[in-house]
Amino acid sequence: MPLRQILILNNKEITSGYFLMKLSSPRIAQNTLPGQFLHIKCSTNNNLLLRRPLSIHRVINKDTIEILYKVVGKGTLCLSKKKKGEKIDCIGPLGNGFQLPKTDNQKHKTEIILVAGGIGIAPLIFLSQELAKSRIVAFLGAKTKDEILCAKELKNMNAEIHVSTEDGSLGYKGLVSNLLKNKLLTLNSKLSIIYACGPKGMLKEIALLSKEHQIPCQVSFEQFMGCGIGICNACVIRTKQGYKRVCKDGPVFDAEEIDWEKI
Ligand SMILES: Cc1cc2nc3c(=O)[nH]c(=O)nc-3n(C[C@H](O)[C@H](O)[C@H](O)COP(=O)(O)OP(=O)(O)OC[C@H]3O[C@@H](n4cnc5c(N)ncnc54)[C@H](O)[C@@H]3O)c2cc1C
Repeated sequence: MPLRQILILNNKEITSGYFLMKLSSPRIAQNTLPGQFLHIKCSTNNNLLLRRPLSIHRVINKDTIEILYKVVGKGTLCLSKKKKGEKIDCIGPLGNGFQLPKTDNQKHKTEIILVAGGIGIAPLIFLSQELAKSRIVAFLGAKTKDEILCAKELKNMNAEIHVSTEDGSLGYKGLVSNLLKNKLLTLNSKLSIIYACGPKGMLKEIALLSKEHQIPCQVSFEQFMGCGIGICNACVIRTKQGYKRVCKDGPVFDAEEIDWEKI
């Protein structure tokens, strides 16, 4: 299991409660797939034994990666206090990652539909980097406008961006799944593939829409996790083939595979 002390190059708050951490790791930068994650020991304190899973947000160059995280509890709070020059203990990259569309012999460009619920945007930027030659249509949803992240990065990749906020402070007022529902009518679904990351309820709605419109869809779960390497089974979810481990069999699953009734 690859386990390393990784040097922090930067750790800055980009908007209230959200941090971008730059890490120096040629090994991870050169051996990771979009959708994979790091299992991070956020503190050496004994009452914080469990690692916390965070997605690889961006590969900046062959030596450097970034993670983007929201402070929600003890672990992420400890992480937010880390300073440039300190090291953190990471296992990874872990998990399966997104499957990229096959581009060989394709006459028409695949239309990539990204759907991010809040911090679910984190792994989708690395994915967009890898799919930069495709047409990207991104749906970004959050509670309020300050939590709409990475719109600038997506714009720089020429993505078409649609925004929803639950309080109506930016873009469509309501859930991102409803926004997608409205827009799907105008997209060329035959050439589309959906990649979604966010809370389970959102993923379920997106999966239903993808089925209705017959669009292939991959979903990435932000599940509670224990070991991160497939041993403890703390992160299992119900699939049509029985329980699967989000850390080892996922975090990315084909939406068709999930037993959404029991999620
Ligand atoms: C594969 C994977 C990739 C992830 N990538 C990212 C990422 O890139 N950026 C990011 O900010 N977060 C990501 N997460 C979620 C992140 O792991 C949790 O937010 C983090 O573990 C919380 O740790 P904590 O100690 O700060 O909070 P805790 O003290 O453990 O929990 C604080 C509060 O947050 C809730 N919470 C904690 N973990 C989760 C969770 N996984 N889902 C829903 N609610 C939760 C708890 O119910 C509690 O209310 C990812 C999760 C997975 C499984």
